[in-house]
Amino acid sequence: MISMIYLCPVCSRPSTGYMRPCATCGDEILNHSDTTCSLCAIDLAGCDDPCPACRMDAPQIDGMNAVGPWTGPLREWLSALKYGGDTRMAEWLSEKLAEKWKTDWAGIHLIPVPPRPARIFRSGIDPVWLLALGMRRRGTPVVRLLRRKGKRTQKNLSRLDRLDEGALKYEIRRSARITQKEYVLLDDVSTTGTTLNVCARILKSAGAERVYGLVVCKD
Ligand SMILES: [Zn+2]
Ligand SMILES: [Zn+2]
Repeated sequence: MISMIYLCPVCSRPSTGYMRPCATCGDEILNHSDTTCSLCAIDLAGCDDPCPACRMDAPQIDGMNAVGPWTGPLREWLSALKYGGDTRMAEWLSEKLAEKWKTDWAGIHLIPVPPRPARIFRSGIDPVWLLALGMRRRGTPVVRLLRRKGKRTQKNLSRLDRLDEGALKYEIRRSARITQKEYVLLDDVSTTGTTLNVCARILKSAGAERVYGLVVCKD
């Protein structure tokens, strides 16, 4: 019998399981989060929390957490998942997301941000939904409250409304009910934070009081 030896996908040294970074690489990937803005998750780089931009213009999101920054192995793995449909790192990423959720927002229902149809066409999967399922297996309650607005809805809008694209992308599902005071939104990457803030605004206008954002990478 040959016993299986798992190797770290970052440094190729022995690891504890299939596609799991070794302890050293895992720490390196995750050890950034002490110094990020609590509202937008950017690196504070010595500034007070919240960061100057969030103090100037408070976001709709009431708190934000990321597994890590949009660099190195995380960026590589998430790109492979998003654009190539490569799901090999999805389990580990789900585990890290579930740990963040448990630390900051245990018990609060998770809402995956719905994908762009073009993204599903390209990779064959919805990466955010896949990660949400991994979190659900680890005990996170997942609810699909949001959906993308269809093209037909957009056609009926005035030109001015269509220009305000951010406000048009999502809506509460017709059958969905806002039953909780707080929710956590899940997305893969946050760059400007627009998507999360637009979704938070929609949820708040429908009755939610606080909405948090959880992402794999903060760009
Ligand atoms: Zn390693
Ligand atoms: Zn900030």
